[in-house]
Amino acid sequence: MSPSECVARAALRIRGEAAMGDFDEARAGMVERQIVQRGVLDDYVIEAMRRVPREAFVPSDLREFAYDDTPLPIGGEQTISQPYIVAKMLAAAELQPGDRVLDIGTGSGYAAALAAEIAGRVDSIERDASLAESARERLQRLGYENVEVHVGDGTVGFAAHAPYDAIIAAAGGPHVPQALRAQLAIGGRLVIPVGSSRHHQRLVKIVRRGEHDYDEHGLAEVRFVPLVGDDGWPEPEWAPHPDPRPA
Ligand code: SAH
Repeated sequence: MSPSECVARAALRIRGEAAMGDFDEARAGMVERQIVQRGVLDDYVIEAMRRVPREAFVPSDLREFAYDDTPLPIGGEQTISQPYIVAKMLAAAELQPGDRVLDIGTGSGYAAALAAEIAGRVDSIERDASLAESARERLQRLGYENVEVHVGDGTVGFAAHAPYDAIIAAAGGPHVPQALRAQLAIGGRLVIPVGSSRHHQRLVKIVRRGEHDYDEHGLAEVRFVPLVGDDGWPEPEWAPHPDPRPA
């Protein structure tokens, strides 16, 4: 390597490290201002948010906004949720080490990564195959070996690996899908947005107390993308037909 090449590489390395450093600082600031100061005090969630690099879950041209107090577009009309909302949902789900978790609406994989930092095993379901594929690659690259990403309809849950200690959904349907209640372990927690409009919901928490005994209460008014599936909203009418017939 020529001396000038050597200098250029060193400069690149230093710039790269500085950029990483900036993200570390931005992440710490986000956790303090958006999570702790707003009253999310679950230590597992706080630690997980300090570790997971949200900048790796947003499109590269939006990285500088990775720690803003807002959802961001991730393609296919979907979004990575606002950090505070994810923290609030995870805290409400009372994740514990060793828990089996179902994450509905993988999207970027950010919430799945946070859950995987705390829990034992995470199944994450995404109906959009290309989002699922990118999330799977990203989670693998970042070393999350306890997350499995599945392509499918989360409104029917994931019976093969049920029961779950916690289920979180990042998309809102008109009601709580029946399969999700049924796939909760006794003592399990389900946190899901539910509302009569596709884009405006109430975040609800359901705890399974016994075989036929569920507690339910509201947590906040929220805006998630629609939960589209067999026990959710129907496919939007303008969506391309999966198997178009010749005209
Ligand atoms: N947890 C994600 C947020 C993604 S937005 C993150 O951290 O980035 C919600 C996602 O739910 C979208 O990607 C959407 O495609 C997906 N979704 C909507 N309905 C679904 C369904 N029935 N099953 C699985 N995924 C669904």
